Formats: sequence, C-alpha cells, structure tokens
Amino acid sequence: MKKLNPMTTMQPQLLELFRAACEARERSYSPYSGHKVGAAIRMSDGSIFTGCNVENSSYGGTICAERVAVQKAVSEGHLAVKEVMVVTASTPPWPPCGMCRQVVAEFASPGETVRLHTSNLQGEHESFDFEELFPRAFTPGHLLKQK
Ligand code: ZN
Repeated sequence: MKKLNPMTTMQPQLLELFRAACEARERSYSPYSGHKVGAAIRMSDGSIFTGCNVENSSYGGTICAERVAVQKAVSEGHLAVKEVMVVTASTPPWPPCGMCRQVVAEFASPGETVRLHTSNLQGEHESFDFEELFPRAFTPGHLLKQK
C-alpha cells in the first residue's frame, strides 16, 4: 500500500484547510453511519468554506461534507473551487464519493489545477490533482457548447 504523508509534511495553507475540516467534522450529524466527515474548500479568491456530513432518516436526504461546503460557497456567491480537503477517522483516508466529485467538477476553478486532499485525524494524507481522481468529467462546458 502507498505510504501516507504524515501531518509534518503539510504546508501552512494545507494545515489551515485540515484544521478547518477537522472543526467542521465535529459538527457532523451522522447517527446512522457513525462516520463523521469534515470538509474544507478554498475558493480561487482565497475564501474558505466548510461542511460536515448531514445524514437523514430517509437516507436519500443525506448529504456529504464536501457538497455541504460547495453549496455554502455557491449560496454566498463564490463559484470557483481551487482546493478541497476531506477528513475522516479512517486509514487510509476516504476519497470523495462520485457524486461529490461531479459537484466539484461543476465548480472547479476554470483554468486552474484543482487539488484534492484526503486526510485522517492523525493528519496522514494524500493529495491529488482533481483531474487524476475524476478524469474526463462532464462539465458545464459540454452543455453550454450546445447552445
Ligand atoms: Zn460525497
């Protein structure tokens, strides 16, 4: 198995996202899965938004931490995601689900390399170019070209 990077390799900006995601994770509403997830996203303008998973007894009403963070950002007028950090208690850290990847693709900062980081509470982490985790994404550009 690929060796995870220890927390000591986090640069200050990454550590800032990690801490914000850990703090958001504490607010997780996850009575059904028991898995707390926190996310923090940095927008291209430098602002940071956070989210936690919010489960629902209907299950279908459940939303992941990453999508909560993106929806908070978009609802406040910030549309360009530059970086995503996801924190769980798991080893290895969990990557975002497919639905979250699609939502990030919708708001990926145009012309920039979007970075995605997964970490556990010990700060062991991996970092990826978003394109590496979600290649050839279906994006707004596909539909907008049709008009
Ligand atoms: Zn998800």
